Amino acid sequence: MSTGGKPHGLGKATQVVHSGHFGDPILGEVSVPIFQTSTFAFPSAEEGAARFSGQKAGYIYTRLANPTVRALEDSLATLEKGFGAMATATGMAAINTVFLALLDQGGHVVSTDCVYGATRVVLESEYARFGVRTAFVDTTDLGSIEGAIEPSTRLVFIETPTNPTMKITDIREAAAIAHRHGIPLVVDNTFASPYLQRPLELGADIVVHSLTKFLNGHSDVVGGAVVTSTEGHFKRIRRILSYFGGTMDPHQAWLILRGIKTLALRLEKAQGNALRLAEYLQRHPKVTWVRYPGLPGHPQFDIARKQMDGFGSMLCFGVKEGLQGGVAVMNSVRLITLAVSLGGVETLIEHPASMTHTSIPRDEREAAGISDDLVRLSVGCEDFEDLKEDLDQALSRISD
Ligand SMILES: *Cc1c(COP(=O)(O)O)cnc(C)c1O
Repeated sequence: MSTGGKPHGLGKATQVVHSGHFGDPILGEVSVPIFQTSTFAFPSAEEGAARFSGQKAGYIYTRLANPTVRALEDSLATLEKGFGAMATATGMAAINTVFLALLDQGGHVVSTDCVYGATRVVLESEYARFGVRTAFVDTTDLGSIEGAIEPSTRLVFIETPTNPTMKITDIREAAAIAHRHGIPLVVDNTFASPYLQRPLELGADIVVHSLTKFLNGHSDVVGGAVVTSTEGHFKRIRRILSYFGGTMDPHQAWLILRGIKTLALRLEKAQGNALRLAEYLQRHPKVTWVRYPGLPGHPQFDIARKQMDGFGSMLCFGVKEGLQGGVAVMNSVRLITLAVSLGGVETLIEHPASMTHTSIPRDEREAAGISDDLVRLSVGCEDFEDLKEDLDQALSRISD
């Protein structure tokens, strides 16, 4: 296929294979080269001046732009159907770059209550030092978004599905509310990936990602991205990224480009496993409840069906004997790996109450929907029978 173009009209699996190019091949290479260079020589002083002023395209310095990183950015812009994308050092660098671009002193944010932990920490204790206030609300309830918006609100920030509770917010409706108040909607699309959900098509203005998760998919690199629907937001956020410096390294970009090529294959396999595991867990005598967007009993099943192309491979469930039950399962899995993070080819298990969320007081955890018995599973690409057997033997360790 021709290079440099944005294959918007192609199918999704074709796009993930073909969307990452930096320009015409140099020697006919099929894979994008790693341009492992910090700086780019100018043929003349005049050319250097023209590049700096923006009169001429061309590379200057890797913090500002790099061909390998640009190939990844082109891929992400294509997959998310955005005006443009920016790759960042981590998912948190992406989120902070958006906050630094859109917030000012005394600015206000309306955010999903159970956002990713570090997002909540930076808003609550770091941006607060600059007078920024945040209302954390249950954004599955659209009225609570509307009710929390103030004259000084600068953005609405939602995560859907949420971590680890798998709650789903209606993106189209949330965008309509934000736009009625003249403010942008920012969506953390990490849990779904653009293969399953494209918030910009539903009216969102900005998408952020932890590329560490599904897009890279191999638990071997960290990274993040911002994708915008308009040139205005793109320019503003690019400026902040260049000056604050949370940019991506070319080697990191190359690894993620390589990971993206199998996104369709990985997600199809993993979400097939996830649905079967969810159905199996629902019938298990040691399991008290299961939350997976693809189960008709999920509270936002209809919204998930409307705005997602598939239900993904994240799920959570409750085990008998609460905290003790969760700990017993964590200490008994053999094939499934006890680890945080998600979205890799290997299945990972996590128990927030005894692991990631132990520092949060129990009543606050419960209020955010993170009960003591909640176990989170990031389902990978193994054989279903092997995952089922491992869960079965681990769940059998819960005493009656
Ligand atoms: C992991 C994650 C982040 C943070 O990304 P890093 O790459 O770890 O910085 C943000 N949001 C969600 C939903 C995540 O899962």
